[in-house]
Amino acid sequence: MASNTGNPGETRPIIVQKYGGSSVADAEKISTIARKICDRAETGVSMVVVVSAMGDSTDELIDLANAVSGDHPPAARELDTLLSTGELVTSTLMAMAITATGHPAVSLSGQQAGIRTDKTHGSARIADIRADRLRRELDQGRICVVAGFQGLSDNDDVTTLGRGGSDTTAVALGVALKADQCEIYTDVDGIYTTDPRLVPTARKLAEIGYDEMLEMASLGAKMNPRSIELGAVYDVPILVASTFEDVPGTLIHGGDYMMEVRRAVTGVAIDRDVSKITVRAVEDRPGVVGQIFVPLAEAGVSVDVIVQNASLEGLTDVTFTVSGGDFERALALTKEICSEMAQDVAGNRGLAKMSIVGTGMQNGPGYAATMFAALSKAGVNIEMITTSEIRITCVIDAEHIGEAANALHNAFELDQAGD
Ligand code: ASP
Ligand code: MG
Repeated sequence: MASNTGNPGETRPIIVQKYGGSSVADAEKISTIARKICDRAETGVSMVVVVSAMGDSTDELIDLANAVSGDHPPAARELDTLLSTGELVTSTLMAMAITATGHPAVSLSGQQAGIRTDKTHGSARIADIRADRLRRELDQGRICVVAGFQGLSDNDDVTTLGRGGSDTTAVALGVALKADQCEIYTDVDGIYTTDPRLVPTARKLAEIGYDEMLEMASLGAKMNPRSIELGAVYDVPILVASTFEDVPGTLIHGGDYMMEVRRAVTGVAIDRDVSKITVRAVEDRPGVVGQIFVPLAEAGVSVDVIVQNASLEGLTDVTFTVSGGDFERALALTKEICSEMAQDVAGNRGLAKMSIVGTGMQNGPGYAATMFAALSKAGVNIEMITTSEIRITCVIDAEHIGEAANALHNAFELDQAGD
């Protein structure tokens, strides 16, 4: 949809932009961005600009909260109101900078922008956006600068959406205003076929599908997955681009005409810091796996790849991966659970997941074979394998991610643009 121009019948397209904390880290950067925003507004679009807190100021506010709280964890309600101030600093400064550049602008807190959430402090979900105020301001020709990452609960308390939540604010406003596009500006300039630090021939993608982007979240732009899911559900195209470099970014969308997707494999995702836990010689009977994984889930350990061997003489081995951060806790808990049930529990750190990702793989055989052959030729041992509709993942020794990424990037010819 579009906003009114004040002249009956005339409308302007709506663009929502978001600038991350590193892009607005000081006054000079805010002024530079304000000029870019004004130039864009002059092209005849209505603009809503979502901003994050300056630099690391959210971390600094958390440190302050902890410092005054001593042994008591800070109250979630107070912490949310405190953290919301980081984004208010940026939104008000940005509105001033835009006004100083010569374009009318108004800053709006999440609450003033009509963002209503549930009551989950620290990771609130957006329930509804009452966008009338925003529409009124846009109709009057103002650029709206909205403080990201915050909303208001039914209790009239300020809530925050979880770390990195400003992306979600931006896409949600894009949905509510039926914006033509949501643009996320950050310190990386787009989504790459794989990590360019490991593979020099990695290529920036012009476009990528929402599902693929979710699988590739470990690459390049660290976009909040909630914002990508939101974009996918409501079909809002999201452009990820560099704040300060004027180069084309990557468009995340769900359109049928996906040039890059004609090639079956879009990218190689790399997930470092993976650990595995192996339970040896556990009894192979109904309920055993549940006995292991239910308590792990209850303890908040998220288990990823799971492999169970074929049973031999009524006994089986179960191996699963967890993130490095959960490893010690998960290993101790698994040992406790299995003390009577299994012969032995062993753990290993230092693994990585290498995945080939692509919507096009759904329709053809042979991708797994090509992947395994490429890894074997590079001398990389595969420890575990798992697949989804649009992804094939191998768990390998983290020491070999460089060789593995290059081998897969070459095998699927990702250095060359699709047809
Ligand atoms: N300032 C918040 C954070 O650092 C939200 C954001 O940056 O998106 O997590
Ligand atoms: Mg931040």
